Amino acid sequence: MTHLPERLLAGYRSFMASRYSAESQRYRALARDGQKPETMVVACCDSRAAPETIFDAGPGELFVVRNVANLVPPYAPDGRHHGTSAALEFAVQSLKVKSIVIMGHGRCGGIGAALNPTAEPLSPGDFIGKWMGLVAPAAAALAGNSMTAAERQTALERISVRYQVENLRSFPCVKILEDKGRLSLHGAWFDIERGELWVMDPKTGDFERPLLD
Ligand SMILES: [Zn+2]
Repeated sequence: MTHLPERLLAGYRSFMASRYSAESQRYRALARDGQKPETMVVACCDSRAAPETIFDAGPGELFVVRNVANLVPPYAPDGRHHGTSAALEFAVQSLKVKSIVIMGHGRCGGIGAALNPTAEPLSPGDFIGKWMGLVAPAAAALAGNSMTAAERQTALERISVRYQVENLRSFPCVKILEDKGRLSLHGAWFDIERGELWVMDPKTGDFERPLLD
């Protein structure tokens, strides 16, 4: 009898035998010296879009915050509990990351909920509905045009990434460092089915696939 799902224990055994075994020096150094990731990623909770997997990152490389639909609530120093803002503050001010990547993905359930706001809430708290209210204006702007449901979904997933990059700039510490050229902001979108990564052009906001060698 264990107190974790068996799949997790099996995965942990595999991790110790392979990855930890191969990188034990690195783990020890990270424990001794602390983490110094250069990149922060804001990603979705979706189990299919893990940034460490997609970017093949090792321990200590990525500082990741994940929430429903990879959103960044605008800067709001109102004394309330802002989890994503806390992670952002730590990454920028303490870790001094050089880049922040907002990473959206295809078939995002949160974005789907934003496009279907009349659906019954999953619970009386309707936390997803309220959270996704952050992109409600963009979702409303897409309603009633000639796009198919799938096109509208992809469009909002990408438009939302642009919104979140702008929201990052609402944090004074981010804006100041970006203006000084010490912090770069990026957008990306991952297609789960084909494994395609699309990257946002910072000038036009368009998404294109990077040229890979
Ligand atoms: Zn998602």
